[in-house]
Amino acid sequence: MSGEREQRVRAYFETLSLFEDEIYLPPAPECEPRSLRVLSGAVDPLPISLDEFERQICDCTKCSLGATRTKFVFGDGNPQARIVFVGEAPGREEDLSGVPFVGRAGKLLDEMLLAVGLDRRHVYICNILKCRPPGNRDPEPAEKATCRPYLRTQLSLISPDIVVCLGRHAASELLGTDAAMSRLRGRVIPWEGMQVLVTYHPAYYLRNMTQRVHGDADFLLMRKLYDEAMQSANA
Ligand code: URA
Repeated sequence: MSGEREQRVRAYFETLSLFEDEIYLPPAPECEPRSLRVLSGAVDPLPISLDEFERQICDCTKCSLGATRTKFVFGDGNPQARIVFVGEAPGREEDLSGVPFVGRAGKLLDEMLLAVGLDRRHVYICNILKCRPPGNRDPEPAEKATCRPYLRTQLSLISPDIVVCLGRHAASELLGTDAAMSRLRGRVIPWEGMQVLVTYHPAYYLRNMTQRVHGDADFLLMRKLYDEAMQSANA
């Protein structure tokens, strides 16, 4: 990002934080007719709802993580969301609670969302893997392949306009690319009729706070796409 643009983004967030208590959050999207988008690799037949799908798969033992998890972490948020976040896999807190992104990285995700005037009522959050890899190791290819139909079914049922990949694992799972994050982030990538944004994983921003300005810029772009999607839905 150019120095001038970076300064503008910083100034924007400084102004926002002055008014944090008064931030205007738009109403969360409610049930509206949406064109069905069945992704290849989704389970067939498509379940009738996310709740029904969670009931179908929550006892999954198709890979070894089924034996080591505490809780199955299906996903969280608005089933009618226009934005879906895809992370990597549950960590310790998520494994214990059954809810994605509730640990430190999750708190940062909430903060970054709020900074662009959104919260969990506006979005849906899930992971590539639904069970915690022991010791938070990287997901293995066989685990990703086993969980793939679950993510694809969630995306088909929600049919969002925007998918945000949190980190390189999510980006490579959805887009099938191992391109550097620095090349993928900050732009809109068309994928399966949706708009995909890639940003660094919130855990990366926790470790590298100076990079957070990129995340803030990515979230501003996400908010712009969200407003456009809501406008065209209401036109
Ligand atoms: N990191 C992830 O990728 N997912 C979570 O749910 C929590 C941390």
